[in-house]
Amino acid sequence: MSRQRICILGATGSIGASTLAVIRQNPQLFEVAAVTAHANVEAMLAIYHEFKPQTLVMVDADAAASLRAQIDAREVTILSGAGALIEVAAAPSINTVMAAIVGGAGLLPTLAAVEAGKRVLLANKEALVMSGQLFIDAARRSGAQLLPVDSEHNAIFQCLPTIVQEQLGYCDLAAAGVHEIILTGSGGPFRETPLAELEQQSPAAACAHPNWDMGRKISVDSATMMNKGLEYIEARWLFNTAPEQLKVVLHPQSVIHSMVSYQDGSVLAQMGRPDMCTPIAHCLSYPERINSSVKPLNFLEVGSLTFANADAQRYPCLQLAMECCWLGQWATTSLNAANEIAVAAFLEERIGFTDIARVCATTVEAMATVVGKRELNSIPALLSVDKQAREHAADFIEYSLVQG
Ligand code: NAD
Ligand code: MG
Repeated sequence: MSRQRICILGATGSIGASTLAVIRQNPQLFEVAAVTAHANVEAMLAIYHEFKPQTLVMVDADAAASLRAQIDAREVTILSGAGALIEVAAAPSINTVMAAIVGGAGLLPTLAAVEAGKRVLLANKEALVMSGQLFIDAARRSGAQLLPVDSEHNAIFQCLPTIVQEQLGYCDLAAAGVHEIILTGSGGPFRETPLAELEQQSPAAACAHPNWDMGRKISVDSATMMNKGLEYIEARWLFNTAPEQLKVVLHPQSVIHSMVSYQDGSVLAQMGRPDMCTPIAHCLSYPERINSSVKPLNFLEVGSLTFANADAQRYPCLQLAMECCWLGQWATTSLNAANEIAVAAFLEERIGFTDIARVCATTVEAMATVVGKRELNSIPALLSVDKQAREHAADFIEYSLVQG
């Protein structure tokens, strides 16, 4: 069998590194054909020397120039600019695309892979949150195979029957005997922090996740639980759920990665160590299984599994995201945009931790008036809402929080 030719969008990030780690264990099955990054030249050079991809994309032009100066250009193609991401994601020589860029920057390249009918390993949840039905319709039209990398969605996928796995985005859960989907979340590093102390939490504290080691943006999202909110929206689209078919439960040990509850009373859970190499290996090899180098779970070490309700006062971002999910595309696109701006401002220490929820709520409220709640049925329409929401969030931060 010929090796799968893989393009890794966001190869220098946390998911990118875990993807390369799984491929390193299985060189007979996978070939790293193309890799992309924003600006990290050193990490890209290391990937180049180890995996010898034919195409490298550095979005940042200076970083691309620096890479060209250090690599023999006769051996590889080095591209730069955001357009190059789209080009490699849709290239005919690629079978599989790992979509692991963080944030809205990943939307167009991920969609390009979907439209080109690739096997798409979806880590970049923001792309789906921003485009929802348009993303699903594009996959259905092109016949692209969607495989969820996000550990919760991968867990749910593993607990669902083949018929549903093959119809992601338009499956009929009730017909498959599903009662509901239960998304689990650890509650992040501030699960037990007194509410009055949340305001003063630093970026370093927010990024110190108790169970998972991840990029900075998703780490902050985990602390606010906006991550679970984005995952709720992601699950709604991937599994075509109605509101009553989707629940969130706190599970601090992160052993159960999510569950599917069936009409006959059975509940299937996928469990494992909190290591993204497991869902990545599952997606890479689906429907087969390969070695991911993750150690098996030791239940005697785990001891007990506990569950709790996610408190709305502690996690206003989660509540807001769950509401936005059912309001319409304008709401989730606006929410995602505002959150990206707010998280960046928090990481730069321009606003406080609890301001993130404030920026998001204010922006969604303002965008309801601006877009008039009309449906967004084209990519240009949603990119325009994304841009306006980012501007609104940035202005609110500048004039009401920083100077206010
Ligand atoms: P990260 O910050 O570690 O890496 C992001 C990657 O995207 C890097 O390679 C970076 O160069 C690239 N990138 C950043 N900005 C870019 C831009 N403007 N244009 C092009 N490329 C750009 O992020 P991560 O933690 O690996 O997360 C990646 C995605 O996977 C996110 O959407 C996240 O929500 C999702 N995800 C991550 C984890 C995890 O454990 N890290 C788990 C589930 C889902
Ligand atoms: Mg997740």
